[in-house]
Amino acid sequence: MSAEQDTAQGAEQTFPPSKEFVENARYGQEFVDSGRDPETFWADAARSVVTWDKEFTQTLDFSDAPFARWFADGTLNAAYNALDRHVEAGNGDRVAIHFEGEPGDSRSYTYADLTREVKKAANAFAELGVEKGDRVAVYLPMIPEAVITMLACARLGAAHSVVFGGFSPDAFRQRVDDAEAKLVVTADGSYRRGQATRLKPTVDKALEKPRHTVKNVVVVKRNGEDVPFNPDLDLWWHETVDKASEEHTAEAFEAENPLFILYTSGTTGKPKGILHTTGGYLVQGAQTFQATFDLKPETDVFWCTADIGWVTGHTYVAYAPLVSGATQVMYEGTPDTPHKGRFWEIVQKYKVTTLYTAPTAIRTFMKWGEEIPAEYDLSSLRLLGSVGESINPEAWLWYHRVIGAGRCPIVDTWWQTETGSQMLTPLPGVNALKPGSAQQPFPGIELDVVDEMGESLPNGQSGFLVVRKPWPSMLRGIWGDPERYKNTYWSRFENMYFAGDGAKRDDDGDIWLLGRVDDVMNVSGHRLSSTEIESALVGHPYVAEAAVIGAKDETTGEAVVAFVMLQDEGEEAVKNGEDVQAVLRAHVGQEIGPIAKPRNVLVAPELPKTRSGKIMRRLLKDVAEGREVGDTMTLADPSVMQQIAADMRDKQK
Ligand code: ATP
Ligand code: MG
Repeated sequence: MSAEQDTAQGAEQTFPPSKEFVENARYGQEFVDSGRDPETFWADAARSVVTWDKEFTQTLDFSDAPFARWFADGTLNAAYNALDRHVEAGNGDRVAIHFEGEPGDSRSYTYADLTREVKKAANAFAELGVEKGDRVAVYLPMIPEAVITMLACARLGAAHSVVFGGFSPDAFRQRVDDAEAKLVVTADGSYRRGQATRLKPTVDKALEKPRHTVKNVVVVKRNGEDVPFNPDLDLWWHETVDKASEEHTAEAFEAENPLFILYTSGTTGKPKGILHTTGGYLVQGAQTFQATFDLKPETDVFWCTADIGWVTGHTYVAYAPLVSGATQVMYEGTPDTPHKGRFWEIVQKYKVTTLYTAPTAIRTFMKWGEEIPAEYDLSSLRLLGSVGESINPEAWLWYHRVIGAGRCPIVDTWWQTETGSQMLTPLPGVNALKPGSAQQPFPGIELDVVDEMGESLPNGQSGFLVVRKPWPSMLRGIWGDPERYKNTYWSRFENMYFAGDGAKRDDDGDIWLLGRVDDVMNVSGHRLSSTEIESALVGHPYVAEAAVIGAKDETTGEAVVAFVMLQDEGEEAVKNGEDVQAVLRAHVGQEIGPIAKPRNVLVAPELPKTRSGKIMRRLLKDVAEGREVGDTMTLADPSVMQQIAADMRDKQK
């Protein structure tokens, strides 16, 4: 099938799972049906996917709504669940992590190895005074020590707060102060795009100003960069952790003991410090992991490409795969270093069976061309996943055809930092897949699409995505700010969690995400979804990526403004003097309707994205409406916005 045919097919086609996949799938219709009684479903899951030290007797306590407690009288240890119990069960020799460094160095840890390393780290941190109830700030690259640190904290009952290794000293300091962290774990540096970078100076700068709560900084030597060392605070990992005892017995803590604090991506505004606790988080994380990815722990090799600094890297790198006894790949660097085939080379090397990545990456691979993955043996792949944004049908079809060879189901998983784990996804052995739709609530999750008044909407109507019942891995609050928790998530609709996203159900009852409700446009009284218009644009062969916003307009209230990054073919067209703006406007008009035609289509060399790869539409809206650009703290490359703002000013002259 050619790329042109991908475009022509659009979202109408469905992809039922193959007979072979269905026959071998671990989870079928019976599993879906058992979700109709959520409390029983989650209690069963809790007994099957984790090991409790003391069994719980009560599943859910929501008497202090919207503050939920799950399995509250049970006790367990998260690190024991991720490590020791697999060794005790005779699986100590199974590889837990295949680590691939950007420069090409690699290390593999069996479950026995990882258990030993985490025990040593736990002993070293305990020696430095870390105990139950404390917080530890983690500022590390994607190296095994990041997972080891997280699990060592969990082992001691201390909460970690991982900060993406790329934030500024101010951003890091804000997070250290907010969590009142006692210990910081960092590295001298990392490798990024073929360069050795330095991380530790950021920590030094952040801790320069007085009155922080940090007692020690443990520094992993990753690249040997010459970094300043402060003997009052700093300790080398290899001089503390590596020398610590390998004996450590994990103590069980109550299910609601805090596991971590993590900040949201900041796509819609200032990031929020989301609090997660232990029992419910592990249960839903592991249960979704095993069902959505049809896990076969003896034979699968899972690879989630998300950074540890984001929730996807927490749930589907650090916790769920390990709690499930899976083998996974962890990669330090970027997809284009040292060449654009790096991801596929890794899939080939480790015989990855299950790949979980983000639409932004898939669109980039499309732009690079299908000749690149074609050079590698991707025949080990059997299942693909997507997370972080809507995957445009065009990108879905490409991923399915080029990476999955038409053979691998794709699970488009919708969830948030706040939900802790997947909430909405097709199950690969059950659902006929629909490109662009996240389809069905995970069993045991009660999602709905409601109108302004909180009334359930019939199929075909767009509204607000809400969760009607508490779920095990839900956030337990915003760190230190219970009022903000209530106001942000539970005040828009009574007794419902409001996710902030727009959605609609199609005629089959499958759910389509429409983008953030803040991004829904109102053009002459018509409500338009940013996601739908973006998907139409990405469906055109000229366009690699698109971001659509509504800008104030005197006649229509709001006008659709589109920012597009072109494919080579589009750039060619511009060079040949074609009116690309007119072509794309007409294309949207034809795909969706005249009302959705963008007022302007602006070609940009890059789109502004968060460090987790999501498009930051609010900044584009600021530019389009001639405002000062808002908070860019979590932007991957601030120069992109300066460029776009300058182009916009030129156009308006
Ligand atoms: P902030 O809350 O600070 O604005 P954020 O919402 O980007 O940041 P995350 O928790 O990382 O922070 O992202 C969750 C959001 O990502 C969801 O609310 C949704 O808008 C989007 N999202 C995630 N997965 C999908 C998906 N499969 N389809 C559509 N949208 C998705
Ligand atoms: Mg959000």
